[in-house]
Amino acid sequence: MCKECYVNESRITPLLNPIDCLENHTQYICGTCGRCICIDHDSVRDLQRWNFPFKSLEIAKLYLRTADYTMKKPCGIYEIKSENGRLSYKIFEGEEILKTYLKRNKGKTCETMKPAFIVDEYREYENTQVRKLTSEEVKKYMSERKK
Ligand SMILES: [Zn+2]
Ligand SMILES: [Zn+2]
Repeated sequence: MCKECYVNESRITPLLNPIDCLENHTQYICGTCGRCICIDHDSVRDLQRWNFPFKSLEIAKLYLRTADYTMKKPCGIYEIKSENGRLSYKIFEGEEILKTYLKRNKGKTCETMKPAFIVDEYREYENTQVRKLTSEEVKKYMSERKK
């Protein structure tokens, strides 16, 4: 597992429309393994990719580093159950934010109120970059994904 971005597949992201994401969105470029993680800020909704619910814990983990980096602290991935029993995973910077979310979303619950995953401590790494890729870099990254 990459110690910086918590994932062992260094080219797994972006998951959806990868070329569009790499070309148009600001990326967190892992200084350790080179993985690009979308950290783009949607100014209209004031949200980043990690603010959205994820279908599985594994997928949420792919984006956790961008949450930690943005908040400058370890954030937790929480299991959220909806009224129909369906599970999703959401990243919150702490229990207080989770509580606020549950208050605003009446049908949703979090059984344990504890993170399903969180890292022990927040660290920064000197080679990290946060920026858009050049078109050459997009091509190179996409070719490395196919290997
Ligand atoms: Zn993106
Ligand atoms: Zn990494």
